[in-house]
Amino acid sequence: MAASQEGTQLTSQHRRAQLALRATTTNDMKLIWPMFDGSDASYSAFVDAAINMVMARQETSSGLASAYYQRFRSAEGVAGEMIPKLAPRLGSGLIRAALFATGLAGTRRAIGAGQTTAAALDSGLVQAAGAAARLVLDGGRRTVDDTVAADPKAKGWVRITSGHPCAFCAMLASRGAVYKTAKTVAFQAHDHCSCSSEPVFSEGAIPESNRRWEQLWREAAGGQDNQLNRFRRALAEQATQAATDTAPVAE
Ligand SMILES: [Zn+2]
Repeated sequence: MAASQEGTQLTSQHRRAQLALRATTTNDMKLIWPMFDGSDASYSAFVDAAINMVMARQETSSGLASAYYQRFRSAEGVAGEMIPKLAPRLGSGLIRAALFATGLAGTRRAIGAGQTTAAALDSGLVQAAGAAARLVLDGGRRTVDDTVAADPKAKGWVRITSGHPCAFCAMLASRGAVYKTAKTVAFQAHDHCSCSSEPVFSEGAIPESNRRWEQLWREAAGGQDNQLNRFRRALAEQATQAATDTAPVAE
């Protein structure tokens, strides 16, 4: 967690705000998806409608992260001011390519696999909405990344996952903070990823969950073959265990 309690709260508020933005994006994708009737031309029209929405939301995501960064920095007791570096705006070509590679390709693949048109369209929508949400939320993640890189007081950033992250995200979180070096790794996110990042101003200020994944990684996967698969299984077992622990007692 952040070094300060206020910082921890700000991070959790920020994550919730980004998740709400993701939900709105998904919802808007659902609303315009019916423009696509299976043809290339209709898909192109759908993408045209989606582009402005994704661009605007990505800027909102960057703006949320920028405000969060400043408040978090001062909550953590860092003196002086840092003007955040907003993520670059998305180009329409990038959005177009991402939506064609997911929604259209996904629908065609599902039809090729023998699904009904309705089912294939549903699966295409899920993929297109996932890609749109990643592009949108990358705005906030990139803003934190770039500001950390430019901020002389920041030591690095740490991945903030949901309570039940996928194995890929839990694995990255298990590595703890990404400290600044000459060649710092950029934030990696997949479609549908709900992770965000928190700046680190004092070493050791790592969230409890990240420490838990780190321990699980060491116990379940460290130094063995198929590390990610072993980790995925251990994570699933832990989730089942947690569900059992909190399940209401049947009468
Ligand atoms: Zn994630």
